[in-house]
Amino acid sequence: MPANRVQKSSRNSTSRRRNLADFVATFGVQMSPCSRCSAKSLSCRVTARSDGCSECLSAGVSSACDAFGHSDAFLRSLLAEKRRLDSQHDEASKHFEQKVQELRQATARLDRIDKQRRRVEDRAFSAFGREAEVLQFQEAEESRGVDSNASAGLDWGSFLDSPPGSFSAAQLTADPLASPPAGGPS
Ligand SMILES: [Zn+2]
Ligand SMILES: [Zn+2]
Repeated sequence: MPANRVQKSSRNSTSRRRNLADFVATFGVQMSPCSRCSAKSLSCRVTARSDGCSECLSAGVSSACDAFGHSDAFLRSLLAEKRRLDSQHDEASKHFEQKVQELRQATARLDRIDKQRRRVEDRAFSAFGREAEVLQFQEAEESRGVDSNASAGLDWGSFLDSPPGSFSAAQLTADPLASPPAGGPS
């Protein structure tokens, strides 16, 4: 019966493997140990007809035993894996370079914006400083009862043309007729 045959075959495979391992351990020759025996410091014995060494046979991992070297398929799979990783590395490297380039561009843009912002801040300080000077001058004149709209005695033209900061508090409160502010400090 087929069922019997399968049962018989599966029942025997473990003991058959043990027997084979015992045979190789007994009659095999010791060679340069396979990787597994080398790592576990086991006695590695092989026969010309065994698939793997005695220890790998006994453990049921004879297909991974490299006592006789590796199969072509295994070596090819290693090469294929290496090529796959090379390709992934190239792709990741390109992606990295692209991100670095983007980072450089973003940094340059931030620098440009900051420089522009500082220029505008400087101009704003300068403009508002000038505005404060004008206001101070105007208030000083107004407090002296001079009508700033019909200011016959005021030299607004030279005041407004003068560079910012050229009017001292003394000049601002001085009589504009007696001491015309035109010119400013040289
Ligand atoms: Zn071995
Ligand atoms: Zn082995």
